[in-house]
Amino acid sequence: MAHTILRGGRVLDIAAGTAEFADILIEDDTIREIGPPGCAAPEGAIEISAARRLLHPGLVNAHTHGHGNLAKGMGDRWTLELLLTAAPWITGNRSLDDRYLSTQLGAVEMVMKGCTACYDLSFEWPLPTAEGLALAAQAYADVGMRAVIAPMVADRSFYEAIPGLIEAMPPALRTRVAELRLPPAEATLAGIRAAFAAWPFDRQQICPAVAPTIPHHCSDEFILDCAALARELDVGLHSHVAESKVQAVTGIRVYGRTQTAHLDALGVLGPRFTVAHGVWLDDDDMARLGGHGASVAHNPGSNMRLGGGLADSRAMLDRGVNLGIGTDGANCSDNQNMYEAMRLASFVSKVRGTDWRGWLTTREAALAATEGSARALGFEGRIGRLMPGYKADIVMLDLDHPNWLPLNDPVNQLVHSEDGGAVASVMIGGRLVVDNRRVVSVNLERLRRRVEAARDRLAAANADNRRLYEALEPVVGSHCPGLARAPYHIDRYGARQE
Ligand SMILES: [Zn+2]
Repeated sequence: MAHTILRGGRVLDIAAGTAEFADILIEDDTIREIGPPGCAAPEGAIEISAARRLLHPGLVNAHTHGHGNLAKGMGDRWTLELLLTAAPWITGNRSLDDRYLSTQLGAVEMVMKGCTACYDLSFEWPLPTAEGLALAAQAYADVGMRAVIAPMVADRSFYEAIPGLIEAMPPALRTRVAELRLPPAEATLAGIRAAFAAWPFDRQQICPAVAPTIPHHCSDEFILDCAALARELDVGLHSHVAESKVQAVTGIRVYGRTQTAHLDALGVLGPRFTVAHGVWLDDDDMARLGGHGASVAHNPGSNMRLGGGLADSRAMLDRGVNLGIGTDGANCSDNQNMYEAMRLASFVSKVRGTDWRGWLTTREAALAATEGSARALGFEGRIGRLMPGYKADIVMLDLDHPNWLPLNDPVNQLVHSEDGGAVASVMIGGRLVVDNRRVVSVNLERLRRRVEAARDRLAAANADNRRLYEALEPVVGSHCPGLARAPYHIDRYGARQE
């Protein structure tokens, strides 16, 4: 057995709001003991100084997209629907190598910014393959990060999913978007099954899941098949639900009830189900999710960036929903900074109402970004806290950094002051993946060269897809806001369209 002891640091207990001096003894990949400074360690234990360091549990990103990292900064005024329209341009013509590269780039950014695990809804056109999913998983394994990788799938294109959108297009564009039709459901499900049948990764580190991307982008049969597959494989199910008003209105139009009520009727809600965003959930939706022990991955940065709205995290907590926090993909937020996501979660709650007593506290935001997200990933009880028996996923912040001068309140400052600038070292499963600001297992210079080469190649390969986006933007960009103008009330009687 290998032992490591972190000596001289201050160990953050988020729930208690304290950061006492303590030493952390690690056995292999697990925290064995948190003892008083100078406590005994087994002979041969490696000592690491954590003097002037605040040790906090690694942040857990409840919702991101590995494929988004090569597309950061490619758009500005994009609604969710315009982002989906831009997909062939910003994520088209990707090779398997690009898939690895984009995922690795995000993993590097996350670990450098104090995040040690993520839920990655990973997209591969036209359908998920064993090779593609294994490469995405390998990218996390090579950085040393934990991840849940969920192939993001559907059996209807965005254009087929939005009422009236194809009809609103001139004939030439209809022909073009017809080429974006997805393969039959059976082929997609077979791709997922093949990938997971021989999953070569340790599920404690890299675990699969299934992500029927947006309910009305999927037939009911397809959603049911995804849920059955997730149950059979004992993995999570994750979907973008009530993310935009267009989605909420479309749900009512297509199902005659909210997306969440429909998913509940299909019987797919449960403790392994995660709603991404949930901006337009009504009270009844939240009660259904809470009742099933489901999670919401709250992505406040993306929700503002895409104009989705301000999700009501307090109402979710009040109804027993497990709250996690995510960054969303770098193509819509446009970074992978969980400190920022946590800070925005706190701020968004504070602009939702004038009664401060309902605002999210920093403690609640920090718990959501650690234990809450960990539960959404299916890693509850193993990561998200610093205590004996938990994995040694530990971020060491430099208390000499201006973010921490002076140290007044560790939890308030973790959520409201820290921005990733003070991250000195990051340990995952007892292994240093960032050591004094240096990413240990990745050559950043080589990564930079490969990313820049991919950027140039993809810009040329997707020039035609970019032109297609430019032709579609006026159609999607007026049709969807038209749909969203429909009155839609969220109140205690439930969502309804008038
Ligand atoms: Zn997403």
